[in-house]
Formats: sequence, structure tokens, C-alpha cells
Amino acid sequence: MEMKFGIHSMVWVGDWSEAAARHAITSTAKAGYDLIELSVIDPSTFDVALTAKLLAEHRLDTTASLGLDASTDVSSEDDEIVARGRKRLDEALTLVRDTGGSILCGVIYSALRKYDAPATERGRQNSYKTIAWIADKAAESGIKIGLEFCNRYETNIINTTAQTLEFIEIVNRPNVFAHLDSYHMNIEEHSMRDAVLDAAQAGKLGYVHAGESHRGELGTGSVDWPQFLGALKDVGYDGIVTFESFSSAVVHPTFSNSLAIWRNLWTDNVALAENSLAFLKEGLGEGGAKA
Ligand code: MN
Repeated sequence: MEMKFGIHSMVWVGDWSEAAARHAITSTAKAGYDLIELSVIDPSTFDVALTAKLLAEHRLDTTASLGLDASTDVSSEDDEIVARGRKRLDEALTLVRDTGGSILCGVIYSALRKYDAPATERGRQNSYKTIAWIADKAAESGIKIGLEFCNRYETNIINTTAQTLEFIEIVNRPNVFAHLDSYHMNIEEHSMRDAVLDAAQAGKLGYVHAGESHRGELGTGSVDWPQFLGALKDVGYDGIVTFESFSSAVVHPTFSNSLAIWRNLWTDNVALAENSLAFLKEGLGEGGAKA
């Protein structure tokens, strides 16, 4: 396998109307990326056939991510809320399958929100059981599940690589992996390098988000990129690295508010996408032009 570079759809668009889908997919291909990560907060709003057709036209791969909300929180103690969460995940999985995607990732084990208290044991059990359940469904289509741990303000279930590996051990499904995001790691990890090494050692380094400390252009904040990208290189990571950046210039009402995107980090997303891809390729020693 060869490393692949992706970009999050919300660098381009806040919704997924036909015009938005066209714009996002065309722009991704033009900027030189291999794939687009679809943000499927509400999978029912997606035209799957159109999306699959556009991806094929531009020869792009895809993945999908989402964060659950309070009404679909699978770490809730309320069975009805958990059931709604499972339904949402099932819809997202179907979308990944029908667009030819390889991985479903994100905050799919809890809501993406600031919690007012630690997770309860019963809530954790509901989260484990749900991930085991969706992983088994995903396995039927050869799809991987990526658990994106987040900083403490965005989930109370997993905030570090170590906690994510522990979660994965409990769930015990071969297609469940850790999804590492430099933005969250920069807040929570003792060492970004050790975190990458530990995930690789466990054979569970499954997906990577490259995000800057302020969520703007890569290389313009305080993330220690030589350490993070150097570690990915050293463990021979050959999966997907997806660039994430969010600004008030592109807004999705739920997503932007849950992520606290209050200010404008950029307006020119074309330059942002091109610069960040060049930055990643340089840092990972993948300098060659795309064939
Ligand atoms: Mn992320």
C-alpha cells in the first residue's frame, strides 16, 4: 500500500447539494488530493448515486466521518438515544459502502460535545457494544472503523491514543482502528511521537487527520510537525492522511458550532488546500508528483 492524501469536505463546502458536491469533488481533484473525506453528519441529505458518479469521474477515493449529537449519543444511558445513534451510524455505513469508501471514522462512539460530567460505566458499555455492532456490519463490506479520539472538550469517552487502544481491546474487532488527529493530540498527549509508536506497535494505526493547533493552514500554528510526521514516517505508516481545516468562511450549522469554529482562519481555500498538501508531502518525504 502507498500513502494516500485526503481532504475534509468542509474545507470546500458546508452542505452537500448537487452544486456543493460538484464543487468539493472537482476542487479536491484539482488540488491534487487522492481522496475526499465526506462529512456525513446527516447521511440522509446525501445523494449517494450522484456522489459515487462524481468520485468516479474525478478518480477520487473516499472515506466518511461524522460526530454524533446529544440525540444520537451511543454513550448515553438512554436506550432510545442509543438506538437513534445506531440508526445514524448504519445510514453512514451504507453511504460509505455505496460510494465505494474504505473507512467510516470520527466521533462515532459518543456525541461530539462538551460533557458536564465523566462518562458512566453503563454509558461506556453502550458505546463498546455499539462499536462492536457497527464493526461487524462494516466487516461484511470490507470497511474499516476508525475511532477518532478528541480533546476533553469534545468527548468524555476517549481523549488519548492509550485510551483509544484500550477501548479497541475491549471491543475486540479486527476492523476497528485508532484514528489519530494532530489537533487533538497536540492538546492531550504527553508525546505525539510515543502516541504514534504505540498505535503502530498495537497494529491499530488506522487513519490520520492532519490538523493545525488553531485548525488553520498546516505549518502556521504550534503543532510539532517534524515530531508527528517524523513518527509516521518512522513506523512506515502507509494509510490515509487527511487534511482538516475549518474556518467561519465555510459553515455547517451543527458541525461548525460543535467544533467551536468562531473565527475566520482563511478565505482562500484553494491556496490553503494546495499549500497544506505540499506541506504534508514534504514532511512525510512523499515529494514526488502524483502519477
Ligand atoms: Mn479530526
